[in-house]
Amino acid sequence: MHAKVEPQPGPARILRPEEIPAVQPEVLEPAEREALRARIKRLLEEQDAVLVAHYYTDPELQRLADETGGHVSDSLDMARFGHEHPASTLVVCGVRFMGETAKILNPEKRVLMPDLGAECSLDLACPAEAFAAFCDRHPDRTVVVYANTSAAVKARADWMVTSGSALDVVRHLKARGERILWAPDRHLGRWVREQTGADMLLWDGACVVHESFQAEALARLRAEHPQAKVLVHPESPAEVVAQADYVGSTSGIIEAARRMDAEVFIVATEPGIFHKMREAAPGKTFIEAPTGGRGATCTSCERCPWMAMNGLRRLAQVLETGANEVHVDPAVAERALVPIRRLLDFARARRQEIYGNNDA
Ligand code: SF4
Repeated sequence: MHAKVEPQPGPARILRPEEIPAVQPEVLEPAEREALRARIKRLLEEQDAVLVAHYYTDPELQRLADETGGHVSDSLDMARFGHEHPASTLVVCGVRFMGETAKILNPEKRVLMPDLGAECSLDLACPAEAFAAFCDRHPDRTVVVYANTSAAVKARADWMVTSGSALDVVRHLKARGERILWAPDRHLGRWVREQTGADMLLWDGACVVHESFQAEALARLRAEHPQAKVLVHPESPAEVVAQADYVGSTSGIIEAARRMDAEVFIVATEPGIFHKMREAAPGKTFIEAPTGGRGATCTSCERCPWMAMNGLRRLAQVLETGANEVHVDPAVAERALVPIRRLLDFARARRQEIYGNNDA
């Protein structure tokens, strides 16, 4: 009998430390903040625009989105909201792949972003040409990509998934006897492989925020708070996931905080999510899971440096000037729509509430 051979991970592009920007949250005096808020509210009306923000953005932006009839959610639900909303301009506060997905699903609308340089380490770790070559070497595998990829990578995929839908899609493919090529997050891919037993060849990318959570420090924190429940996003390392009382997407984590019978939670995901967790579960206590801290090997722990590029000043500026419009090559968009639509159709067929149950 032969020992089972573990599939080898695919070749990720390793980010150089200088490619990971320092976290620079916007600092505003109260008077400037109020003036910007008023200006943005006026511009949204004048421009027939609506704000769509991710859970990881600054709470100030999330509040403004809620106050102006916009939406705060995960990436696919952001795109769904933008598609259904009558506004002709969508202002996506998040990272680039979210703006691209919004544009692909809403090609007739103008999509603006506060900063087009807001990237994602998963997207950056998976360049389209290298990924296409990897796919070409494994033509027998079904290509499944996470939402956190460029339009060009999605255009090479058979399926797009989110963290809230990955298990169902992979189980479905496994039942059809399909072998999977997965990209780009190795931790999420490993977790999905463990949960489903599917044959998955993994790309070797990682999220710089979630990968920084530390298992030993988490164990010590749990010992200090024995009553706390641990909520973990599956982009985190296996040793961190192993300590979780709940593993799931951003929307799932918020729902778990509301639903679970506990008063204290240790949370391993980007702390921007605490704003919505406090709204969903007022009175409960949320503690950030420990990370490696800032140092030579960790330039952006705790906060996503690219999400932090979204701020009120830049938002007001793009609304005033029309700068930072998101464009996707129409041929690429047409092909990238295939795996996105496949996920939406799959969810609909299963009567699954996919919107609001997925993540970036
Ligand atoms: S938190 Fe991680 S996965 Fe999310 S946008 Fe930032 S780098 Fe990408």
